[in-house]
Amino acid sequence: GVVIEGLHKSFGEVEVLKGIDMSVEPGQVVCLIGASGSGKSTLLRCVNRLEDPDAGSITVGEFDATHADVNLDAMRQHIGMVFQQFNLFPHLSVLENCTITPRRVLKHSREKAEAEALHQLDLVGLKHLAQRRPAQLSGGQQQRVAIARALTMQPNLMLFDEPTSALDPETVGEVLSIMRDLARAGMTMLVVTHEMGFAREVADRVVFLDQGLVVEEGPAEQVIGAPTQPRTQDFLRRVL
Ligand code: ATP
Ligand code: MG
Repeated sequence: GVVIEGLHKSFGEVEVLKGIDMSVEPGQVVCLIGASGSGKSTLLRCVNRLEDPDAGSITVGEFDATHADVNLDAMRQHIGMVFQQFNLFPHLSVLENCTITPRRVLKHSREKAEAEALHQLDLVGLKHLAQRRPAQLSGGQQQRVAIARALTMQPNLMLFDEPTSALDPETVGEVLSIMRDLARAGMTMLVVTHEMGFAREVADRVVFLDQGLVVEEGPAEQVIGAPTQPRTQDFLRRVL
């Protein structure tokens, strides 16, 4: 799981995270919601130390992510991240996209890496497209490859930053469906999303962030269904 305590982060004069406390229990799905600029991506990026926090502590499984001596490479091997822009390597095939990191980082043989990659591609329904280049796939298919690629590293935690925001409406569902399967399989997930239907159905907890602070959190049916804070109510009125 993930435990975040007293997390602060500024960019120059601007304090973007103002003391965040939140956690993700092992095997649970937490959806992070909030307006543009509220600090959702910054929070996610602090968890795998793509950003360095100014203060506070983050633990990810057995890793103390904010400790000076933390082995970041080892920690990141256990964290899969999926972005709005799929970030696939355009010059590599789908299969190569899914084998390059296990081969380089885990030193897996080509055979072992390909077998695992094909297994993960099969789970997202794309094994038959393994030899294609990313540009030959739809956005939804590319995002499913990005998820399969992350899973080839056998992560304990998956971070998603608006994974469906760049997709055509008709392919959003196929990506959400893969994420739902992953949640049901017991993956620990922290998901930034504007898909309130997904959050209501899949999230164990929903955290509403506003101007760098957690304003409201709890079960989805409470935070989305019956929010108590005026700022949460305003936000939901605008997105629903
Ligand atoms: P969105 O929904 O638009 O993705 P967000 O909630 O993910 O928004 P962040 O991307 O975390 O918000 O940004 C929060 C604030 O921090 C914004 O005001 C943004 O301009 C600022 N910010 C983020 N990254 C940097 C950076 N590297 N340098 C300076 N300012 C930054
Ligand atoms: Mg963002």
